[in-house]
Amino acid sequence: MGVVLDVDKLRAAGRVAVAAREYAVSLVRVGALVLDVCESIERFIVESGGLPAFPCNLSINEVAAHYTPGLGDSSVIPEGAVVKVDLGVHVDGFIVDTAVTVDLSGEHGKLLETTMRALEEAVSIVKPYVSLYDIGRVVERTIREGGFKPIRNLSGHNIGRYVVHAGLSIPNVADRSLFRLRVQPGTLIALEPFATNGKGLVVDGPTINIYSYTGREPKMGLTSLEVELLDHISREYKTLPFATRWLKNWKSGDVEGLLKLLHSKGVLHGYPVLVEAGRGVVAQFEHTVLVTESEAIVLA
Ligand code: MN
Ligand code: MN
Repeated sequence: MGVVLDVDKLRAAGRVAVAAREYAVSLVRVGALVLDVCESIERFIVESGGLPAFPCNLSINEVAAHYTPGLGDSSVIPEGAVVKVDLGVHVDGFIVDTAVTVDLSGEHGKLLETTMRALEEAVSIVKPYVSLYDIGRVVERTIREGGFKPIRNLSGHNIGRYVVHAGLSIPNVADRSLFRLRVQPGTLIALEPFATNGKGLVVDGPTINIYSYTGREPKMGLTSLEVELLDHISREYKTLPFATRWLKNWKSGDVEGLLKLLHSKGVLHGYPVLVEAGRGVVAQFEHTVLVTESEAIVLA
């Protein structure tokens, strides 16, 4: 994909991501502050020798993805929650993306098992030149056999250096039009089936707590304060997603307002919280796999 992947750095990121994912599961408890859980995971990643490739996402029940605490967020994990933790680790820009679901209700075991099986089945067929149609078909079939629906507008993706979503979408449903699209050797891919007892579709919620720098020219002029904030963002995070709360100590009091302006001017991409359209419960599991000339290596 035009980027030479550093396998040693990817393996290092993968080791940190596996440990962080295990640590995350140990932190998910009824009554825990979502902010504490996410900050603890991000700190763990740094202390283990990696950097967060994006903010820790902790999405509960019908919230499928992209929830990270906002500034001053006081939400806690409620009783009976189905909790997705999605985390990313990078070492020098080489990214590993992984996610796990924890069922605190004791009622959604089958949903979790089915989603996990869909991921395992998908990973088991990954090899050089596997068709994207085949991956989506195996995911959809496994989830439907379990009695659930795949979320059709959420997908896996390829990963580039400092780029989490590098342009290729890996579907969670059978899409015949992708039959000829194949995973080339030297590609890093994230597989992430989402399953639900709802409609099988997510819609954008109103909240955005995650942004990334687009690298594009602004649609209109930037104030000097906006330029300064954008410089800080591109230096600290490059093109990786970051959380509003990571900028809480930045010089201006109204960093949230500035981020909204930079978003409206096209220089930041926003990641709205994604909610299941039928308010169904959502489960997700994710692995990152390096596809080489000869094999598929599960990094985390
Ligand atoms: Mn992820
Ligand atoms: Mn991903």
